[in-house]
Amino acid sequence: MQDFQKNSNIFNLLSEGVSEGIIVVNSEQKIVATNSSSEQMFGYMKDELIGKPLDILIPKRYHSGHDAHVDKFIAKSGKRQMGHGRNLYGICKNGKEFPVEAGLNPFEFYGSTYVMALVIDITERKSREEELSHWARIFDESLNEIYIFDAETFKFLNVNKEAQRNIGYSMDEMTSMTPVDIKPDIDDLYFKELIAPLINSDTGKVKFETTHARKDGSTYPVEVHLQLSNLGENRVCVAFILDITERRDYTENLENIVEERTHQLTEALAVEKELNELKTRFLSLVSHEFKTPLSSILTSITLLGKYTETDQQPKRDKHVTTIKNKVKYLDTILNDFLSVERLESGKVNYKIEEFPLSKTVNEVVYNCNMLLKSGQKIHYPENIDEVNIRFDEKTLELALSNLIHNAIKYSPEDSTIDIIVEIRDKDYAIKVIDEGIGIPEEEQKHIFNRYFRAENALLTQGTGIGLNIAKQHIENLGGSLEFSSTEKKGSTFILYLPKLNTN
Ligand code: ADP
Repeated sequence: MQDFQKNSNIFNLLSEGVSEGIIVVNSEQKIVATNSSSEQMFGYMKDELIGKPLDILIPKRYHSGHDAHVDKFIAKSGKRQMGHGRNLYGICKNGKEFPVEAGLNPFEFYGSTYVMALVIDITERKSREEELSHWARIFDESLNEIYIFDAETFKFLNVNKEAQRNIGYSMDEMTSMTPVDIKPDIDDLYFKELIAPLINSDTGKVKFETTHARKDGSTYPVEVHLQLSNLGENRVCVAFILDITERRDYTENLENIVEERTHQLTEALAVEKELNELKTRFLSLVSHEFKTPLSSILTSITLLGKYTETDQQPKRDKHVTTIKNKVKYLDTILNDFLSVERLESGKVNYKIEEFPLSKTVNEVVYNCNMLLKSGQKIHYPENIDEVNIRFDEKTLELALSNLIHNAIKYSPEDSTIDIIVEIRDKDYAIKVIDEGIGIPEEEQKHIFNRYFRAENALLTQGTGIGLNIAKQHIENLGGSLEFSSTEKKGSTFILYLPKLNTN
């Protein structure tokens, strides 16, 4: 120790210029020299450490291990860094511990062995490292995907575990890729445009939704949050990615439910509206359509009471016919209304059976005869005597009488109504052709709408229901109802009845 102290001037000279702590121990691990950096580091006064065992600078729990370590080290006589792979700690005079890094240099001096320890207080570095590893853990363990790429070349620099897991590429593979390679909907140009606000302004963030394509080709919708950051000298973009598959599924589901409910509601409202409309129509029908026939029935009955003489029989007959016609008319519109109600509520029962076509046509024509205007004629089909058809007889009767009624109503006196039946391979075409007022072309598309009445028909009594229900019933049974018409020339309505199997 004395030998060493003899030459301490040289040591002092050399060691005071060094910012690391220098501690020299002899082979008994007694401190023989220190510099002021180490005294400050450990909180001792000048020379206070000389002659003390090295242990006073080392926390108790490391003592035995430390001795063995240094001994082994001295035996090996190699110059090396201490603390590799483990944490080294020093202890200050006041008991405060701090992390250190120490390099040991053994040397011989006047025949004795010494070790010079170069000690660095790494408290600050350690806490920086801990902080860094904390952030690195957050980065890697984040359940959101995080991608970091160069702001100039767009090449990926780092991609966290969750991103690698979901996208399916390894970090190695990703280093040669750019965000455009995993975004099938975005090309280079568009990507540059997207992040331009970020690159040019250096602040803020960019947010957009797009799709990511995995290595296996599958895709998933994502929300991208991009921010600019600095990594050393380089500007980098940090992308936080949210996989929005669930959110999108949820939203889509919700949208579907809303759409479905809206649809149901609209339908319910439409039915409600239709019913209301029906009620209103019915009321206005009762007040208008019923009033006229009822008052002419009343007039005829009043007059009937006055014609008491025998020779007034023709007059009586005329009024009885009027009454019959008006009652028939009222019966028809009531039946139409009942039919609408039945069609709406789905309570229609069809009865398919075989019957001679001529029977129905005859009956309908017979009933219509009393509505004919003066000079009007109906040409009856001649080719149906032998024809038996299978159909719902009531429906055919309803449809046919509607068509012939209309032909009579909307044609002038002295005109002809032709009924032609074509027997075809798969069906029968029953045509009712008139020479009447026709239907204006622009109104033809509405003619089967319920309550629709063409402008030129408004002076004639009617409800706008007949064609609508006839068409619905006929279609329910697999047939169809079509027409062609020229205003002021006439109309042709055609009933197509399918040939139903006879068995
Ligand atoms: P309505 O005759 O009671 O008004 P329809 O449903 O039978 O009701 O007919 C609807 C509309 O179609 C009529 O108001 C009329 O404008 C037009 N129409 C129907 N048949 C003819 C026809 N043979 N000639 C001209 N117009 C017709």
